[in-house]
Amino acid sequence: ARARGALERLIRDVPDFPEPGVLFKDITPVLADCEAFHDVVEAMAEAGRDADGVTVVDRVLGMEARGFLLGAPIALALGVGFVPIRKAGKLPAETYGVTYDLEYGTATLEMHTDALRPGDRVLLVDDVLATGGTIAATTELVHRAGAEVHAVSVLMELAFLEGRAAAGDAPLSTLLTV
Ligand code: IMP
Repeated sequence: ARARGALERLIRDVPDFPEPGVLFKDITPVLADCEAFHDVVEAMAEAGRDADGVTVVDRVLGMEARGFLLGAPIALALGVGFVPIRKAGKLPAETYGVTYDLEYGTATLEMHTDALRPGDRVLLVDDVLATGGTIAATTELVHRAGAEVHAVSVLMELAFLEGRAAAGDAPLSTLLTV
């Protein structure tokens, strides 16, 4: 509980970003605190291990951009490779793409077609779960590749946006819920 409070204090609320009326959760103070960053990476990596502490995922997937900052060290902690999920037009080789609805307009996420092998079990990592659109689109990319989502690990869940259902059957782990 003490650790949780300390982590909560390192997440900064920024009103009216990126647009008026939105209270943005800023995790950059967590990244800047080496001890907190380390603890967060270790705690979030647990979703990729079994009860004996053995890694049970083949890859960690991180969503642009803050999912990269957490996903890459989590992949190293688990001893597996990292796969970036990027916004449209950023990945250089052949990609799968999934387009999903935002409040205003749409967004497209892409993954290299050779990033996963059929049957791979992956851990999805992001900083914040809001409406769940990002997790749902990434899950679809994983399925396109014939792979499966073992678990979803986010630093913070905005529960009032009810995005949790986007994880589907995969267990969702979150360090903080607001
Ligand atoms: P969703 O797709 O609506 O669940 O939104 C989640 C995506 O938007 C994640 O990639 C987050 O990084 C980003 N996001 C949404 N709200 C916040 C926030 O308050 N702080 C940081 N990132 C956010």
